[in-house]
Amino acid sequence: MSAFRPSATVAAAVAITEPVNEPVKEYRPGSPEAVSLQAEIVRVGNQVRELPHVINGERLPLVDPVAVSAPHDHAHVLGHYSAVDGAVVDAAIEAALAARADWSRTPWWDRAAVLLRAAELVSGKYRDELNATTMLGQSKTFHQAEIDAACETADFLRFNASFAAQIYATQPPSPAGEFNLLDHKGLEGFVLSVTPFNFTAIGANLSTMPALMGNTVVWKPSEKAALSSQVLMTVFEEAGFPPGVINLVHGDGATVTDRALQHEWFAGMAFTGSTAIFRQLWKKTAANIERYRSYPRIVGETGGKNAVVVHPSADVDAVLVALLRGAFEFQGQKCSAASRAYIPRSVWAVLEPRLVEALEQITVGDPTEHETFMGAVIDQAAANRLGAAIDQAKNTPGHTIITGGTVDTEKGWFVQPTVIIAEAPDSFVLQKELFGPLLAVHVYDDATWDDTLKVVDGTSEYALTCSIFATDRTAIGQALDVLRDTAGMTYVNDKPTGALIGRQSFGGGRGSGTNDKAGSPLLLQRFVNARYVKENFNPPHHWTYPYMGQ
Ligand code: NAD
Repeated sequence: MSAFRPSATVAAAVAITEPVNEPVKEYRPGSPEAVSLQAEIVRVGNQVRELPHVINGERLPLVDPVAVSAPHDHAHVLGHYSAVDGAVVDAAIEAALAARADWSRTPWWDRAAVLLRAAELVSGKYRDELNATTMLGQSKTFHQAEIDAACETADFLRFNASFAAQIYATQPPSPAGEFNLLDHKGLEGFVLSVTPFNFTAIGANLSTMPALMGNTVVWKPSEKAALSSQVLMTVFEEAGFPPGVINLVHGDGATVTDRALQHEWFAGMAFTGSTAIFRQLWKKTAANIERYRSYPRIVGETGGKNAVVVHPSADVDAVLVALLRGAFEFQGQKCSAASRAYIPRSVWAVLEPRLVEALEQITVGDPTEHETFMGAVIDQAAANRLGAAIDQAKNTPGHTIITGGTVDTEKGWFVQPTVIIAEAPDSFVLQKELFGPLLAVHVYDDATWDDTLKVVDGTSEYALTCSIFATDRTAIGQALDVLRDTAGMTYVNDKPTGALIGRQSFGGGRGSGTNDKAGSPLLLQRFVNARYVKENFNPPHHWTYPYMGQ
């Protein structure tokens, strides 16, 4: 029988140095970091990797392999992941449950040390491999891969270790005669982490963060990010996660989640992905509620329809850069991407020609080439979906495509950066998450700023990010007030993407998720099942009370 070891889950005098964000390397052509990464891209690109399930530290043989290819060169096969079935999921759950007893009793600073070691591997030994697999497998440019796969991943690992230290240090007072202790245990059961294709760092966060808090995990990364996810798993093992603490299962999301959500020891879910899938998973959890030993903690960060709201006093140069970077970097496939812009007629007269000119200069192509600003969208389904939205706009009165509007799938899944003017404020392009390089613009009369703010708030079901552009402070204050529930992250005079861990924690409300803020202690707290312990040094020896007159 194992003794209670409070060091596992309560404070101790262990300090973790205040983390700093991982510096972003520039990758100028010919620089040492660019030369090194180019060599790694060639090495990875010449391989066809096996991407097996990793359960209890074992790599399972590949069954019914599914090809993974480069979105910008779909004939280029980079590897094969294994198909999944219920038996694989059961094995992953059993491994997680078996590892739980020891891992949850491991002192928290030992667990944190594994994350801190992983951060060093991410920012050092594995930096090039993580960047190269993210560039090839998810079609990210040098800069987009670096800020995600290297920097944000390292930041999540380092900052989460520090947030955990803060949580464990939160203890109740112990006056004379008694001793009180807050035991921040992990959840009772296993945690299911289901992660999206668009950020390698989200896969790293949602698999390691519950483990940091003493949980054991079944991790289902996106099959569209299988290549970089496998590198992360190697990092986790080398950093020292014991077998069974994080179990990697590739493949079809519904197969994995249907099985996992039926299990009595399903204790929590860390999901990031689309709103429709999250709602399905919530419904399935509700349908199974009577099977569970506890009420599972459900965390989901989902879609967005992020607005850029421009006041007549705005700095036009700043708006231009925010739209170019915010809407089109990584092909508009960031959950936080600018996808609708509200621009006063006076500003639009100056901005429109400059926006079109800049977009016509943008290079869309192979992201491993230095001059490329945009790679391909993630797969054929995405290219088809975006092509259909463009066609719908072309065929619907009140919509004008002023630049872009073409899809070319011969070599890769390429969609040109596209700007669609929508006259009606309730147009589908202003409401639906299209998740690609399509920016919807609604031009409003300068005098209708007040009403436009209400339109922005009321138009979409989402509330993830938004940007306000103005130099007039009264207008900024007014917009912050009217838009207080419109986004979980509001930027003033900045693009709506690019949250930095430790400074702007990420998450949204309404249809965008449970708003638990990835990159903050709030998220870690959701994976804690707290117990208070009181020890009485002077227990009473009589059961009666003074008021009873005895
Ligand atoms: P997705 O919903 O298609 O997939 C997310 C995960 O769910 C993947 O692991 C996938 O395999 C799995 N999945 C897919 N279908 C499933 C099903 N029927 N049952 C169970 N699991 C299933 O999302 P995606 O295309 O990978 O990512 C893009 C979406 O994620 C966008 O909507 C974007 O806004 C959102 N996103 C949100 C945030 C945020 O922080 N709010 C961050 C990144 C991405």
